[in-house]
Amino acid sequence: MKYHFYNANILSAGEIIKGDVVVEDNVITYVGSSIDTISDRKIDVNGNLLMAGFVNAHTHSPMSIFRGIADDIDLNSWLFDKIFPAEQKLTPEDVYWGEMLGIAEQVRAGITTIEECYFFYDKLLEAINKSGIRCRIGIPNNFQECEDGKMKEFLDSIISQLDNELIKPVIYAHSIYTLSDDELNYLVDYSAKNKLPMSMHMSETLKEVGDCTVKNECTPPEYLENIGFLDRKTTLYHCVHLDKDDIKILADYNVNVVTCPSSNLKLASGIAPIYSMLNQGLNICIGTDGVASNNAFDMFKEMFLVATLNKALLYDASIISAKQVIEMATKNGATALGFDRCGDIKVGNLADLILLDLNAVHHQPLNNIISNIVYSAKSSDVYFTMVNGKILYENGKFYIGENIEDIYSNCKKIAKRIFNLID
Ligand SMILES: [Zn+2]
Repeated sequence: MKYHFYNANILSAGEIIKGDVVVEDNVITYVGSSIDTISDRKIDVNGNLLMAGFVNAHTHSPMSIFRGIADDIDLNSWLFDKIFPAEQKLTPEDVYWGEMLGIAEQVRAGITTIEECYFFYDKLLEAINKSGIRCRIGIPNNFQECEDGKMKEFLDSIISQLDNELIKPVIYAHSIYTLSDDELNYLVDYSAKNKLPMSMHMSETLKEVGDCTVKNECTPPEYLENIGFLDRKTTLYHCVHLDKDDIKILADYNVNVVTCPSSNLKLASGIAPIYSMLNQGLNICIGTDGVASNNAFDMFKEMFLVATLNKALLYDASIISAKQVIEMATKNGATALGFDRCGDIKVGNLADLILLDLNAVHHQPLNNIISNIVYSAKSSDVYFTMVNGKILYENGKFYIGENIEDIYSNCKKIAKRIFNLID
């Protein structure tokens, strides 16, 4: 299939250019001024914006089912009193529909790649494969999912299914506080032997840092350094409470950091020191985390917060630019997740792209499109989402392998069963 997008404002290599983009099969084959070319479908972009899709570098999509059921409480109560008990009631089929709901919301909001961390892999993979979204999937979620001594067999079997352009694996160790030292060491060893990247929630709350310091006599980054976790290609989610020595350690190991500001604000975890980490050269990416904690997949909201929170904290509006934040939400995320040919509109890259309505009133007059993306745009401005050359969302219609009404009704039934909600 060959698509010819014409009459577009194109965000390419951090600049806006006017012209056309051609996609053949799953690859971008032309970016530049207006051209004549024979194609299967011509799309008049009508002066709107064509840009790379967003990379949501940290999420738990099936938690969409839990939207709104555990709000206005601290992270510890949220996780141990609300979320973990609710998760005990989930069946594999529930996770499938929750994943589908999460994917639908994400493609609607212009997200083309996700880092997915949840359990019941068969069902996660079924939904991800069916939908066509690009994904790095975290395995394993926990050690309870496999029988004693069967972890290697389990990991080997999952990883053998993940050798393609759209889905990659990452060894996901949930956190220092949910895994034992033995379990963490096992995962580090497995990752090293199989040359796999690793990921973890780290230094999300003051309590977590305090507990780690009491138990291990060192901060979480020091602990991860000591057990060899950082010797792997590592992605760490949150990184809210770090001192300058912690940041230096992360920089020494070229760690990828995923900041999730709306989740950190809503759970009152704190504000990540993005500016200090940027200064140390860390690759900063952006994630939404799960919908139980933020409560929507909206990279525009996250970008606004990344751009503004550190400015307010340091009383300096010049420390982070809109252009830097867009890179965090696209290219930096793609690099962290190992999708090197994604995250920008350029010839040879894989065709993960979105169209954004610039005719909406909150974009007028169109003085500065790059600034508008971060400070004015809304996720509802996205009207077209393509992943790997395939349209997954266009003008209210979803092409993700399931009917959107079926997704809604199944998730409603699941939420009702788990939380005894009254219709
Ligand atoms: Zn998370």
